[in-house]
Amino acid sequence: MKILLAVKRVVDYNIKVRIKPDGSNVDIDGVKMGINPFDENAIEEALRLKEQGVATEIVAVSLGTSANQDVLRHSLAMGVDRAILLETDADLQPLRVAKLLKAIVTREQPDLIILGKQAIDDDAGQTGQMLAALLNYPQGTFASTLEVNVNEVKVTREVDGGTETIALALPAVITADLRLNDPRFVKLPNLMMARKKPIETINASELGIDLAPSLKLLQVNEPAARKVGIKVGSVKELLEKLRTHEGILV
Ligand code: AMP
Repeated sequence: MKILLAVKRVVDYNIKVRIKPDGSNVDIDGVKMGINPFDENAIEEALRLKEQGVATEIVAVSLGTSANQDVLRHSLAMGVDRAILLETDADLQPLRVAKLLKAIVTREQPDLIILGKQAIDDDAGQTGQMLAALLNYPQGTFASTLEVNVNEVKVTREVDGGTETIALALPAVITADLRLNDPRFVKLPNLMMARKKPIETINASELGIDLAPSLKLLQVNEPAARKVGIKVGSVKELLEKLRTHEGILV
């Protein structure tokens, strides 16, 4: 079984981002970037399937500029077999990403495609669903467990108030939830070795896909500041305030 993974380069999850003074976007100048955390869960799951003898090859693909090589090297250091950079400096929105990934799927013919359930920069949570629709493949989104049997994959997915388990015929698209696993740490020697591994680069413009954005970002705003909390002296006082909504439930 061949697995294709999509890994996105995003602002490191520890960074508190700032908005540009003109409100046009988030300011990522000089900000630490890294692999999207959900995509690490996708990698980890693929590696486990390979260790169990279920998967034979794992390919990671990232879309963006040459800077995206760092997340591909991280993926190689974790243990993926091959890395592909789909190079473009276009503003990539989920539908464009899905269309470009579809082109790679057509070329690579994977049995299983695993994405993150969402990218922590745009929080769109759309690419996996769009990719599955474009390919006409079944989709198992927000996966918290995965079990591959001969021609199908069983996915337990997070839904409101619990989980549901579904069986998908292969090939299929999965999106990984954080509950899927705990990604392994990347050891320094593996990172060093990954530096020497080749990354196949494909110019996205060669794929004949319209990269013009279909969405326009109008404005980015800080979340409204939260009102300062108050300390109450006793449970009785708390209950009284909750009952009267006095300065608490605002
Ligand atoms: P989103 O729909 O933007 O929240 O992203 C969901 C998932 O799609 C991510 O976790 C990645 O697996 C994949 N993805 C989105 N953008 C890219 C990209 N530029 N390169 C590779 N994978 C991506």
